Amino acid sequence: MNENCAVDALLTAALFAADRHSEQKRKDTAKTPYINHPLAVAEVLSRHGVDDLITLQAALLHDTIEDTETHPAELDSAFGAEVRSVVLEVTDDKKLDRAERKRLQIAKSAQLSDRAKIVKLGDMICNVTDVASNPPVDWPLERRIEYLAWTEQVARGCRGVHERLEEHYEAALGDAREVLGRTYGSGQGVLDLGVSDE
Ligand code: ZN
Repeated sequence: MNENCAVDALLTAALFAADRHSEQKRKDTAKTPYINHPLAVAEVLSRHGVDDLITLQAALLHDTIEDTETHPAELDSAFGAEVRSVVLEVTDDKKLDRAERKRLQIAKSAQLSDRAKIVKLGDMICNVTDVASNPPVDWPLERRIEYLAWTEQVARGCRGVHERLEEHYEAALGDAREVLGRTYGSGQGVLDLGVSDE
């Protein structure tokens, strides 16, 4: 594929996602437009050297099946079976309760395809950063701390596919813990994180 076709394909995926998420907001105080999140995931992957078009398209589309009315067959016809399959790999079954969905993500992360592992890492890099600096309004500190610890377990299964991205995830996690430590001083939870309060 020449460069122009790749740009076209990425913009088409971005536009598709923007259209599907158009009514949705993030849960932060500013009620950020939802599309900012998939754009940020694709951007962080690209910035860390991911140039596989299917992976980048899947990053842009990663929440369309889980969080919008999008059917897998639509992704199939618009972007092809490979993109659809990566998106499906990172899609939770919303019929299950949250605890079960979280448990399954830990259990399954090691079996994901390399592309899905990369999308997952990008997603978690963006989410740990948001949970520290721009969290959902209704998340108490404890839930934010738990979330960071949960991503660490999922990330363990995603090891071995993209060293630079893994390092960036580790750095983002460290930064997030530091931000929570700074925000909350030496309160309980923070000590559990092993963050010093010096
Ligand atoms: Zn996401």
